Formats: sequence, C-alpha cells, structure tokens
Amino acid sequence: MKLQGTMQINDKGHLEIGGCDTVELAENFGTPLYVLDEQYFRQNCRRYYRAFTEKYDGVVLYAAKTLLTLAVCRMVDEEGLSLDVVSGGELYTAKKARFPMERVYFHGNNKSAAELKLALDYKVGRVMVDNPHELQMLDRLAGEAGVQAKIMLRLTPGVEAHTHEYIKTGQIDSKFGMVIENGQAMEIIKRALALEHIRLTGLHCHIGSQIFELQSYAHAAEVMLGFAAEVRRETGWQPEEMNFGGGMGIYYTAADEPQSVSKFADTLAQAVKNLAPQYGLAAPKVLVEPGRSVSGPAGTTLYTVGAVKSIPGIRTYVAVDGGMGDNPRPALYQSRYEALLANRAAQQPQEMVSIAGKCCESGDMLIWDIDLPAPAPGDILAVSSTGAYNYSMSMNYNRLPRPAMVLVKDGAADIIVARETYDDLIRNDVVPERFNEGRVAKIAGAGR
Ligand SMILES: *Cc1c(COP(=O)(O)O)cnc(C)c1O
Repeated sequence: MKLQGTMQINDKGHLEIGGCDTVELAENFGTPLYVLDEQYFRQNCRRYYRAFTEKYDGVVLYAAKTLLTLAVCRMVDEEGLSLDVVSGGELYTAKKARFPMERVYFHGNNKSAAELKLALDYKVGRVMVDNPHELQMLDRLAGEAGVQAKIMLRLTPGVEAHTHEYIKTGQIDSKFGMVIENGQAMEIIKRALALEHIRLTGLHCHIGSQIFELQSYAHAAEVMLGFAAEVRRETGWQPEEMNFGGGMGIYYTAADEPQSVSKFADTLAQAVKNLAPQYGLAAPKVLVEPGRSVSGPAGTTLYTVGAVKSIPGIRTYVAVDGGMGDNPRPALYQSRYEALLANRAAQQPQEMVSIAGKCCESGDMLIWDIDLPAPAPGDILAVSSTGAYNYSMSMNYNRLPRPAMVLVKDGAADIIVARETYDDLIRNDVVPERFNEGRVAKIAGAGR
C-alpha cells in the first residue's frame, strides 16, 4: 500500500496517520473505523484554492456528496472553498455547520419543490438548474418568495472522459443536463433568459469522474466556449462564469497515475483564458467542483480481521468486520483498493488473499487478490483512499451499524461521526398499534 498524506510506519511497526497509531485508534474507537487525515484533507483543499485563485479568476467548490459532515463543512469553509450540494439533506448539513450560504451551489437532476424552497429560503449562491421542469418550478417559487434566483444551467457537452462506464456523465445519453448537440441546451437558455424571477449567470458541465486525461477538460472548454459563442450570437447573452465540474482521478492502486492540481488548473483555466477572446467572449470566471480528489486520499478505513478461510488450490478468504455497508464501491463499480496490516505494517507480504466483507452477499468482497503478510484473526487491516464515496454511500444492509469517523492530526484523534448503535437502527421503526390488539385474535384463530 502506498503511504499517503501523513501516513508513516512507527517504531512499533504500526501504521500511523496524523501522528496517531492506527492500532490504538482501533482499540480506542473500535472497528470498522473511518480515519480522516486532517492535514491531508486541508492540503488538498489548499492545492485547489491556490491553483485556481492565484493565477486565475477561479472558484473552487468542494463536492459535498463525496464526504460531508458538520466538521468537514467547517474545514471546507476555513480553507476558503465553496460548496456543491445535491440534496436538501446536504443543504441542511451546510446550514447547520453555519457554512456561508452565498458560497453554496445547489445541484441535482430532480430537486423537489420543497428542496428548491429551502434553497431560496437559505439564500444559496446558485441553483444549478438541470431541466425545463425545474426551471419553471424555480421561477414560480422565486416569484412567490419575491426574489430573483441566480442560476447556472447544466449542459451535456458530449465529451467522453476515459473512465469507468458507470461514472461517465458528459456523453449525450445521460440523465444529467441538457444536450448541446440537439438544440435542447439552446432552448433552455432562451427560456431562462425570458423568465422574470431567474437570473442566468453561467453554464455548467461535468464530464465524469476518476479522470486522468487532462485533455478531456481542455476539450470540454472548447465545446462549452464554442457553444457560448453561439448563444451570444443568437441571444446577446454571455456567461459570466463557466463551471467544469469535478472528476480528477486519485490514487487507489498502482494502476492509477493522478495528475497534479496545478497542471489541471493550467490545462483548464488556461484553455478558457485563451479560447474566450478567440470566440469573441469576455473571459468568464472558471469554476471547478472537485470531490474525490479532495476527500478521497485523506480517508483510510480500519477493520479487524476475523475468520480466515483457505480453500486449498483456490484462494484464501480473509473476512473483516465491515464491507459493502461501509464501502459499497467495489460491489457497485468493481473499484479496486490497496491495504496493509496496520499492526504489522513493516512486514513483507507472504501470501495472496482476498478480503471479504461480512454482509450476506457473495458480491461483498472488498479486495480480490492482494499480497499481505498472512493475515490472522485480530489483525487490523487498513484500506487506503476511502475518504470519498464511502461514508457518504454507506448503508445499514444486514442491520450493520455504520462506523464512527475520527479526525486525526498531530497525535490527537477527535470523533466527528459517532458510531451507530443498535438503538439507532430501530429508531425509526414503528409497530402498528393493531399488532398489540391482534394478539387476542391470533390466539382465538389458532384452534381452527
Ligand atoms: C460528482 C460530481 C462532482 C464531483 O466529482 P469528483 O469526481 O468526486 O471530483 C462535481 N460536480 C458534479 C456535478 C458531480 O456530479
């Protein structure tokens, strides 16, 4: 496993993150445990902030869907980033964390009227409108509230980034945004410009996720600015800001070669800067929405090894006390991860094994075929790069309580998400009153 952020191996041969011995973290907080490296998370925020605001007129939005808690909101705010939220729940979390609402951008392909009302009520910075139905609804709600909603329109530029099929979103056949090529994008822009309670500030696209090919962004810039020039010719309107979404790839395994954030900024923002005058446009502000590349590498999950089952000549299954409940990505996308034994981090790998979760699903496998120093019950397994789309996608399948999350820095560990209890699992369960009355009827019927 590649050591990232503040990871190191201490003199006991244990993995350390943020100056904390992960074996002690497992003892003190239990497993499975999400560990978030504060310094690394903040450094990732800062890299984006510097790359896009020092040389360019840029704005960086952290994509909350990858990892959002109250403490995470506070860090994002302190690092000067804005926030991209996609639901009433994320919006509410930001509000409760006292995140400045003018720096909140509200995404989603099917926002409800209640969510849009909440966004207007909170006075979010922008609503990222996805489709004509939403545009109409927002215009009406803004009118009722006596305000003008500032919006950006989500478009589908038809740029295909080289990434896994399920996380491609820029191609034409997509549930997100309005297609440029077939005229629907132009149509919705004209509609937006005609609405009284809507002010259109710019255009948005998001070409996919876990992208390593920076030229995809330059290509998206070309398509989007070319289209903006067409819009200007037809309507006289031009975008003050252009949002190119997120998508920068991160290191999960040795197969991944992440690009630097400054190279990303130099490719995208420079392309926009160069292209705008060529297309007769005033250079727009460049917005980006990194999620995975901010939170992903900063997270590690700790598990305790339980049963180790060898099927001679086939494989060895090493079962851990979590799995698809806390990390659904391998089951959803066949995602790959690296791991090491945190309590024997300095030992050489001896054996190829596969890491199984504890859910009742054959597909609940965290890692196939990984070389480790012969795992035994009680060992602590650390899986790296789990900061993004793990806690945020976690679930209670099999009624497994969701893990706690600790924020580590300079040898201190603070709980930022408490571990769920069994009582949390039944908190919303309701037994109909008639079930209690029904007891009599059931006994009465039993003799028949
Ligand atoms: C998911 C998403 C992001 C973040 O993508 P990452 O790959 O995590 O950087 C940004 N913008 C939009 C619209 C998204 O859907």
